[in-house]
Amino acid sequence: MTTLEIKDLHVSVDTEHGEKEILKGVNLTIRSGETHAIMGPNGSGKSTLAYSIAGHPKYTITSGEVLLDGENVLDMEVDERARAGIFLAMQYPVEVPGVTVSNFLRTAKTAIDGEAPKLRTWVKDVKSAMENLRMDPAFAERNVNEGFSGGEKKRHEILQMELLQPKIAVLDETDSGLDVDALRIVSEGVNRAKETSEVGVLLITHYTRILNYIKPDFVHVFVDGKVAEEGGPELAERLEAEGYDRYLTAKA
Ligand code: ADP
Ligand code: MG
Ligand code: MG
Repeated sequence: MTTLEIKDLHVSVDTEHGEKEILKGVNLTIRSGETHAIMGPNGSGKSTLAYSIAGHPKYTITSGEVLLDGENVLDMEVDERARAGIFLAMQYPVEVPGVTVSNFLRTAKTAIDGEAPKLRTWVKDVKSAMENLRMDPAFAERNVNEGFSGGEKKRHEILQMELLQPKIAVLDETDSGLDVDALRIVSEGVNRAKETSEVGVLLITHYTRILNYIKPDFVHVFVDGKVAEEGGPELAERLEAEGYDRYLTAKA
């Protein structure tokens, strides 16, 4: 049983005009086996929250806490956070020139487990995870994210999640740019991980569509750097019908 606690988190970025506060006091608790949807308009700070949890150096934590089973995550380097069981699927995955998917996955697995995976089982695990995600075996020999389509990038993120078996997975707009078939395949991957490893999922999305495939236990509406409203799946249905307008006008 793992708990990720985010307490009154304030985060700024450096801009040409000085420090700009993006996160303005985020409170959120995610436990193993739970799926939390974070839904909010563009620019509300969803990716900033994801990157702050994962430890991106661009973001300055000005106050607040992030605790993984009581351990201070904000004191950890990026790789320590990954080893502690935190996984981030980025909204815009980056290219890793000269590194194949196959090598990348094995290196990441070795770093996280502290030992190289047993070759025979590993090859089998990769093969079956790729089959499940309907990925061509040739994909394993391509360089990470180089020339990948939007859908291939997202499948590759979920492939990583399935093989690395994190305790907490932050999925930043894993649904964006996917057609219906790809969305279903990617969602099935997340649901498999939920069943097999009890991973706690923070599912960041702009649209309600993915929530037809991955059922959230909790929905948090994210507006202007903090949680504006929380509820169960019914909240997503209301957002589908009403959009974010009422939160934005309420703010003005
Ligand atoms: P979301 O993922 O919800 O669309 P982001 O976290 O990407 O939102 O961005 C939140 C806000 O922070 C936006 O207004 C964005 O322009 C601003 N922002 C993010 N990074 C920077 C940066 N490096 N410099 C200036 N503004 C930034
Ligand atoms: Mg955005
Ligand atoms: Mg974003």
